[in-house]
Amino acid sequence: MTSHDTRNAGLSRREALKVAGLGAAGLAVGGLPLGALGSSCVASVGPPAGGRELVARIGHLSDTHVQPERRAAEGLEACLAHVQARKDKVDLIITGGDSIMDCFEQNEARTTLQWDIWQKAWKHGNSLPVHSVVGNHDVWGWNKGDSRCTGQELRYGKKWACEMFGRERSFTSFDVPSRSPGSAAKWHVVLLDSIAHDPNDPHGYIGELGDEQTDWLKSDLAALDRATPVMIVSHIPILSATVLLGEPNKAHVREVGSGVIHADSTKLRDLFAQHSSIKCCLSGHMHRIDRVDFRGVSYLCNGAVSGNWWKGAHYECNEGYAVMELYSDGSFDAAYETYGWKAERA
Ligand SMILES: [Zn+2]
Repeated sequence: MTSHDTRNAGLSRREALKVAGLGAAGLAVGGLPLGALGSSCVASVGPPAGGRELVARIGHLSDTHVQPERRAAEGLEACLAHVQARKDKVDLIITGGDSIMDCFEQNEARTTLQWDIWQKAWKHGNSLPVHSVVGNHDVWGWNKGDSRCTGQELRYGKKWACEMFGRERSFTSFDVPSRSPGSAAKWHVVLLDSIAHDPNDPHGYIGELGDEQTDWLKSDLAALDRATPVMIVSHIPILSATVLLGEPNKAHVREVGSGVIHADSTKLRDLFAQHSSIKCCLSGHMHRIDRVDFRGVSYLCNGAVSGNWWKGAHYECNEGYAVMELYSDGSFDAAYETYGWKAERA
């Protein structure tokens, strides 16, 4: 999404804290008080640590939005340094989309510049394994008017991002083996591609998997051993309370577009209900922090490395990343961690 979108959807801090009170009704905007103070939001599921075996600790770094301006590359490298200096070692990183500021409506030169910065920051600043999710701003040229793309370019659409991520397809899945030697425990991680053409706007996008990816997801899940816990990562939320934080319109209606929440969210939630091994779904896109627990699945919107697109905090969301601790019994802990970034003054 863009900063313009969220500005309109925003709440004052006082209002945000009121919304956080909804937690008692089963809808929690987690991390608001803590995140606003630059600390962490910790949420535990399942039995207390002790009897649980830690399978893996994963850094979820979403919405890095690198660009030549506002020392964004330096910010990303500071975040990577923070992730790798942790005493509680992170095993791998998942990037949550919107890697670069934007190429959806940018020309080839500007897109090259941004991906170059992104590649250099990772090459220079990271030694952990990385898996990446595609965000709307990583899709080159779908706004043909502004990008001047014809659609015939070799790296048009998601091809450029896939090349940067080192894979053929925009969605994938893999197993994460236990960090404990000799253990057979594992988690299965699914990386979805949220970005689909908007059927009502040739220059726009919506959150949707589409038929091919939906079929793939169904067979990927069906092939799993039921005892293997699953974590799903998308850029656009499948379910999130953050999309409700704006004011109703004059007709007292809250408008929630399919650019901020998956259009196929209902179908996906029904599919997830058939797979009790699905434990959590992570997203980015909103540059805000929340958690919704629904029908046995926890949906976590995990903030933004860039905060307010490198202009400081975005409401309760300071520049930060999530740490997911995945346990052998299917439980997990989640925390939102800031990395001490001081945004350049405008
Ligand atoms: Zn986005």
